[in-house]
Amino acid sequence: MSVARPSTHRAALERLDAFQRSSLIGAPSPVEEMGRLRAALGAAPRLWVKRDDAIPFAFGGNKTRKLEFVVAEAMAAGADTLVTVGGVQSNHARATAAAAARFGLRCHLIINGQRPDPPRANALLDELLGATIEYIPSREARDAALSGAVERLRAEGRRPHAIPLGASTPLGALGFARAIGELVAQTGAPDVIVHAASSAGTLAGLAAGCALHALPTQVIGVSADDPAAYITAHAREILTGIAGLLGAPGVAQAKFEVDDAFVGDGYGVPSAASREAQQLAARTEAIFVDHTYTAKALAAFIAYVRAGRFAPGATALFWHTGGQVGLFA
Ligand SMILES: *Cc1c(COP(=O)(O)O)cnc(C)c1O
Repeated sequence: MSVARPSTHRAALERLDAFQRSSLIGAPSPVEEMGRLRAALGAAPRLWVKRDDAIPFAFGGNKTRKLEFVVAEAMAAGADTLVTVGGVQSNHARATAAAAARFGLRCHLIINGQRPDPPRANALLDELLGATIEYIPSREARDAALSGAVERLRAEGRRPHAIPLGASTPLGALGFARAIGELVAQTGAPDVIVHAASSAGTLAGLAAGCALHALPTQVIGVSADDPAAYITAHAREILTGIAGLLGAPGVAQAKFEVDDAFVGDGYGVPSAASREAQQLAARTEAIFVDHTYTAKALAAFIAYVRAGRFAPGATALFWHTGGQVGLFA
């Protein structure tokens, strides 16, 4: 890896460092070598895991990184209420409710689906965190419900701040551009990073971080639901936004891949491969992955290893994006 970087990238990294953040994460999340998984797979490459599931704040996960930036902006703008959308077991909704609690803000969640009775897993945590929860019938009704809630709260004299699905805005994705710096300081650059992708903020942020640090690392997002073309287009849009925020036009062209071959029968529906990955990770490393996101991404990671996609001396890193609360839904 070359030490010299284009000067535009150095300036962009300084700008990234200077962005306001509301601290939720604290110390870097752990990076661990998965030696027993490697042995179980007879794998030639070295296998690592970045444990964002082990971020201490409110069960952690990838939304924590994005919310550090998004909540700082909301607070700087004088917001007193965070408003966001998600499904009944949304990790993003729980993380937003938790961030609101931590910073003394109110939280209004628009949740498509029905309130589980009794509430379990993320739905239980949302209630414990004191969020106001508005249940709506469908995903399609989200946008209208979000703008409706913002208007209503304003009329009541509150100062709401709307956070889009997954906090996957260019600003939120900066959390993952920054996370690449964290990883490089811990272990250096892996040859490949594999992670679960949906609203594409994690993917765009990781790709941007690799571009800013001039890393040769290949970033692969494994879809939890949408077709690769859709996630790719969304990630590209976010990258263009990041390039603007950091004044680094090259970042808009950052490289990444999306694999939608592991969705199986759909969002949140386990597949044979995701079940196998879930058991294998637990039994070799005592690491837990959820059916909706991380088990499918890990199934892809395992399939790549078995197919010999990574060179024998290579380092392949699975970025664990959290979601373990979903095991108790
Ligand atoms: C939201 C989520 C993802 C997907 O991240 P995006 O940035 O929306 O692509 C992956 N894993 C878990 C556990 C999540 O909660």
